[in-house]
Amino acid sequence: MVRVRYAPSPTGSPHVGNIRTALFNYLMARRHGGAFLVRIEDTDKAREVPGAVEEILESLRWLGLQWNEGPDVGGDFGPYFQSERLTLYHSIAEKLLDSGAAYRCYCTPQELREMREFQRINNMPTGYDRRCRFRKAEELEALAAEGRPFVVRLAMPLEGEIRFEDAVRGVVSVEAKLVDDQVLLKTDGFPTYHLANVVDDHEQGITHVIRGDEWISSTPKHVVLYRSLGWEMPVFAHAPIIKGPDGAKLSKRHGDTRCLDYRDKGYLAAAVANFIALIGWSPGDEREKMSLNEMAEAFSIDRIQPNPGVFDIAKLQWMNGLYIRDLSPDA
Ligand code: GLU
Repeated sequence: MVRVRYAPSPTGSPHVGNIRTALFNYLMARRHGGAFLVRIEDTDKAREVPGAVEEILESLRWLGLQWNEGPDVGGDFGPYFQSERLTLYHSIAEKLLDSGAAYRCYCTPQELREMREFQRINNMPTGYDRRCRFRKAEELEALAAEGRPFVVRLAMPLEGEIRFEDAVRGVVSVEAKLVDDQVLLKTDGFPTYHLANVVDDHEQGITHVIRGDEWISSTPKHVVLYRSLGWEMPVFAHAPIIKGPDGAKLSKRHGDTRCLDYRDKGYLAAAVANFIALIGWSPGDEREKMSLNEMAEAFSIDRIQPNPGVFDIAKLQWMNGLYIRDLSPDA
């Protein structure tokens, strides 16, 4: 059974790229008669924007991307807000600490600043130098006894490569020692994205992770987490970044980027969904005008392109015209 998720952080109103991720996941679920989950990744309280969750759900509703599990509708794998799942993350962090796959880091913000400054002056790559990982047991005990706050970090392999197969990009491989010992649990007891995301994808039975390309550099860390926990990995599929017709990264000057702005301007939801799905994906034939049902029938991860997708507002206007001309005079 295919289980996919859209996992937004409530840091603002969803833009075209977020919605494309939601759409691909929705289409994948529909194609295989699977489940489409919405999970709110609200573990970074400082970046949370009031009202964002509502805007996220409102955008999905407007486009007709009905979710099978998530906020409002519930489901067997809830809660679907990460801030309500903290005990779970703590228990997994404990497990990682026990097996030595993670360690406590007592470095203070001041120490970390000095570390970075030292690396900068000496032209060294910046990143955590893993000093707490190699501290003597007595030293660590003394720091703990002092009651110093700590974070939990992932102990990355120090040699070899981390390889994984991406369904869009093919084999991706990075040198393990170049990857930072990622913070998993912060001093405030909240998990970082990496821990919460992997734990939930596992616990919620996610089979395919379809998300934007900006997350591909995080995936090696996730792979190490899956391995350390002895969990089976989902299929990863990273959709290409979106550019404007001029080749620059998509921004306001190429048109509105907030999905609901299109609704507010009178665009039809079906046209917007159709247009967004075709940024970096194609049905494998010449068809362009397609309903959600038609796209769901044709959807396949294999036809997500690895090259950047192009957002061309002129094409959206053309497509919106097709849909408008299909309406009855009354509508
Ligand atoms: N919370 C992440 C975001 O806002 C989720 C990324 C992912 O799908 O793993 O995009």
